[in-house]
Formats: sequence, structure tokens, C-alpha cells
Amino acid sequence: MMWAEHRRAIHITQAELLCKNGCGFYGNAAWQGHCSKCWRDRTCQADVGEQDCGDAAAPPSVSKEKKSEEKSRRSSTIRKLFLGEATPPKGPDAPLSQAEALKAFEALQPGDFTAFLKLLRSPASQRLQSRCTAFLNTMEAYHALAVEKQSDLVQEFYQNIAAHFNSMPEEQVEQMMEHMEKLVMTRLHKWVFCHDSCDDEQKDLALQRRIRSLKWVTPQMLRVPFTDRGPEDADPYLPAITAIIEMDAKRAPQDKLCCVSKCSRNIFQAVGSCKSEPACADDFLSALIYVVLCANPPRLHSNMQYVARFGLPHALRTGETGYYFTNLSCAVAFIEKLDAAALGLSPDEFRGFMQGGGATGALGQAQQVRQQLEELRRRQEHVMEQARSLQAQLRSWAESTQTRADEVASGGRSSE
Ligand SMILES: [Zn+2]
Repeated sequence: MMWAEHRRAIHITQAELLCKNGCGFYGNAAWQGHCSKCWRDRTCQADVGEQDCGDAAAPPSVSKEKKSEEKSRRSSTIRKLFLGEATPPKGPDAPLSQAEALKAFEALQPGDFTAFLKLLRSPASQRLQSRCTAFLNTMEAYHALAVEKQSDLVQEFYQNIAAHFNSMPEEQVEQMMEHMEKLVMTRLHKWVFCHDSCDDEQKDLALQRRIRSLKWVTPQMLRVPFTDRGPEDADPYLPAITAIIEMDAKRAPQDKLCCVSKCSRNIFQAVGSCKSEPACADDFLSALIYVVLCANPPRLHSNMQYVARFGLPHALRTGETGYYFTNLSCAVAFIEKLDAAALGLSPDEFRGFMQGGGATGALGQAQQVRQQLEELRRRQEHVMEQARSLQAQLRSWAESTQTRADEVASGGRSSE
């Protein structure tokens, strides 16, 4: 294989996946390499004096100080409004029934969202339910707030609600919170996804264009473990490609994360089927890049930002989901800066591919020819298959006719 010699440029160490602060959680490009916790701690500090959106696009003429002063005063009022701190607990919520409600929540089967909703609507959890409803109504009413602010409010809401369940074991609190996230974000999705207050939409388009311009990149260039079993076999990464495309259709952040995890597990499986040794972290990342390039997932940037802003922190910082999500953000970063060296090409070859979309370069032509040949072979195989099945049908027809003729000739019937 002619690519085997070039140095592996798509390479990542475990340390690079972790939060810049060294707290041990997974970091993400959405938080400039920090984990969600360190990032929020940092922006909370910065929020006092600085404008919350540090983007270079901010017009320089605005008096920042005055604006941010005003903003922080306003936001603390809004915060009170959202979290309802001042509202005293209402009558029917006797402590006993609340404890009962908590017990009932604790007894829920994991993942049973319907039962959770039913319980939330029961009289015993009226207070909790009205907190949720009030929060959702206020969020909808203030949907024009900057998306970062909305993210802060949702995260604060999660924290407060988690406190409501804090008598439960941690694992169950997490399950309750997953239900809560689903409840809240299913409803808020249409207001906060790809919000007008940020440049998510432009970034989606830019990433989509970038991916389209790289459609000539082959698995070999990325050093993705790949089988060369011939045209009959489908791309072993197809299930992963499908899974990442499905991400856009989901509304709750956890469901989007599930798609990322499903995609990642499928990648590990595909790498495993193409390679005799187990997949390493670099195999995984290369294959993930390949999958993202093939899929060109709709609104990928928006989807990742949405998950980062409104997902449950524990799902993003730790465990399998955190690892996969961080890798996805690394994959996107690699795609944005993918160059000749990373693909083992000369600068001229790379330029040729980029300009011609693969059609002008010699390699691109070779690849096209190969694809055409494969297509022909596939069609020929299909024709042959049809011929074979026709032959088989003929044979069985002839046989059955023969049998029937024999039966008639012998005057008897087979006793079946
Ligand atoms: Zn951290």
C-alpha cells in the first residue's frame, strides 16, 4: 500500500482530550478546551467585567462597560424570575406527600420517561411540576435572550432540580436529571437550537462547504483501517455514517449524544472487522474523521453547540459519552485544518484535489475509474445473479413438472 509509509499525522493523546485546567474531565472545543465546569467557572468570573460574548465580531464602538453593567443588573432580575427563588412553597405540598413522591420517583424503572411524566403530573409532585412549567413558560417568553444566557439559565435550573432529588443515590439523581433534560429540552429545542444570537448557522454552512470540498479524501489517505474485499461489500462504516446523520433529528441533547455514541461504537466494530488487532485511539479518530466526511451531517456545528450548552454536565465530562463527544469535536477540528501533510500528499497534489474536487488530479481520475469499474462489476454481478436465479427457477419448474408427469404416468399420488 503506497500510503503506509507516511507518518501518522492524525494523532491524539489522552491528555489532549482532557480539560486544560487539569481537573481530569474531558474538555471540548465548545469550551475552548476546558470541561463544562471549568468553562462555566471561568465565564462566570469574566461575566462580571467583560461582555459575555468574547467574539471578535463585536462592534468596537459600543460602550462596553455601561452595557455590561446594565446587562448584569438585568440578568439577575431575570434569574430571580426564572428560578422563582422568592416564591414561597404553596399549600397542598405537605412534607409527607413530597417524601412519598420522592420514593415513587426513586422506584421508577431506569429510562422510563413516560412513567416519570405521569409521576410528575401526580398531585404529590405538584410543586416540582409547577416549577418546571414556570421555568419553561419564562424561557419561552424570553427566547430572544442571548443563547449563552439561556444556556446558563438551563444549567442553573438543572442544578436546582438536582438539589430537589439529593436524597437519592447519585446514580438515580442522574436518571432523574436525564428525564428532566428530556422534558425541558424537547420543549425548548425550537427556541434555542441554532439561535439567532450566535453565528451557528454560518458556521454550519462553512463546515458543510469544507466537508464537501474534501469529498475526494479516501480512507487510505486518512489511514483508516479498511477492508479491500471488493465491490460486493458495503462500506463497513455505513452504520456509523447513518448514526451520525440521525443526530440532527433528535431534540433532547442526550438523544443526540446517543447518536454520537452509537456512531462511535459502530466505528470500533468496523475497525475491529478490518484489523486483526484492537482499534487504538488514533484509528478511532481517523475513522471518525472519515465517517464525518462521508456523512456531512446536517447542522453539525449547531448540534454540537446545542449539546454543549444544554446537555447534562455529567454526560459530557465523563464516561463513554464524554469521550466520544470530545473525540467528535477533535475530528471536526482536524477536518477544519486538514492539509497535504496530514493526508500524506504533496502540496501540489493536495491543491489539485481541492481545485478539481478530485477530478483533475491523477489520483482522483484513478479513483473515478475505479469507482466506475466497481459500479460496472456490481451491475454485472447483479445481472449474473438474476440469471442464476432464473436458471434455478427453470430447473425447479422442470423438476416439478417431471414429478407431476411421473405421478400421472404411475396413476398414483404422493402421500404428503
Ligand atoms: Zn475542567
